[in-house]
Amino acid sequence: MFMLNKVIPALLVIMLSLGGGYYVLAMENDHDNDSGTTVTPPGDHDENDHDHDGGTTVIESGDLTIHFLELGNKYVGDCVYINYGDVDILIDAGSRTSSSETITNYINEYIQDGKIEYVIATHAHQDHIAGFYSTKTTTGVLDSFEIGTIIDYPKTNSNTATRTNYEDTVKRLCAENETQHYTALQCYNNEDGAQRVYELGPGVTMEILYQKYYVDKASSENNYSVCIMITQDGRQYLFTGDLEKEGEDSLADYYEEDRGGLGHCVLYKGGHHGSSTSSNKKLLDAITPEYVIICTCAGSPEYSPTNENQFPTQEFIYRIAEHTDKVYVTTLMVNYSGNKYESLNGNVIFSIKEGEVVIICSGDDKVLKDTEWFKANRTTPDAWM
Ligand SMILES: [Zn+2]
Repeated sequence: MFMLNKVIPALLVIMLSLGGGYYVLAMENDHDNDSGTTVTPPGDHDENDHDHDGGTTVIESGDLTIHFLELGNKYVGDCVYINYGDVDILIDAGSRTSSSETITNYINEYIQDGKIEYVIATHAHQDHIAGFYSTKTTTGVLDSFEIGTIIDYPKTNSNTATRTNYEDTVKRLCAENETQHYTALQCYNNEDGAQRVYELGPGVTMEILYQKYYVDKASSENNYSVCIMITQDGRQYLFTGDLEKEGEDSLADYYEEDRGGLGHCVLYKGGHHGSSTSSNKKLLDAITPEYVIICTCAGSPEYSPTNENQFPTQEFIYRIAEHTDKVYVTTLMVNYSGNKYESLNGNVIFSIKEGEVVIICSGDDKVLKDTEWFKANRTTPDAWM
């Protein structure tokens, strides 16, 4: 019934050797750029592949694990899969329609009951929702599993076919199945059967946070992003999609006013793929992030020809460095026009084991500042010296 049998073979030799009070486990990277599938089942790995020594860690059935996925192509996009016993959550399904195969194959390694209880579509950009719906040649994630509750953006300015395809799929699922659909605003307001806080299990909740662009018109689609806080035994994990400065400031201000502040976050999904427009000072000061994991393709010219503005940007790095050097990045661009990319940290799994953070990477297990890409392309902030 459970995934223990799938994961134990992977079992994973873990490094205790970093001395930093956290564990890192690296699995062999079998990334194949030419195939639509980049996920290597954990069971395919042999612990002898690893040259780490030290103790052993096991992902057990009851563990809450948060997975930042590679997307099977060279494009920047977000996909975070959360597994907690038989509760499954998917936040976004970028970056292209073909990513659905990569994402579905990955989820199938962990999911117990074929049902994703909660799907969150943060905003209507292709790099977040393209993998949700089916095409003539691909089966979307929403058509690959039973879907419980879909929570998405209250507002959008988008007129794209991507948006229409996604929303039509949601409507069809709600009409044909027991799928429920709410906006983040309905959730925040506890309206129409939607909930602000979903209990996932003992001591574990998912809260839909408020930010002003659930109601106000934004000039940037990114600012419509749904914001989610997962709390596990008092530890907080924050996901803000591609929220930019105006949205981040409204989020931080809203919780600061009479609500005690957002509070320290052990995990923060690096906002907007490490863009300079996100992860701004007000939000970072409010959440004092400890681990930052980014779904992005490091050094990709997809959105900027200028090196320092390519994700993760130099500005982002300077701001994050004020709080932590525990930064992980999924993918590395090798040659954009040649369609060559590889894993940097690869698929990154975050979990808590015996009170300590465990990071498992399918690729390299180095934090960003220790990677060759960083040394060749970024200036080291003083805080990281
Ligand atoms: Zn994005």
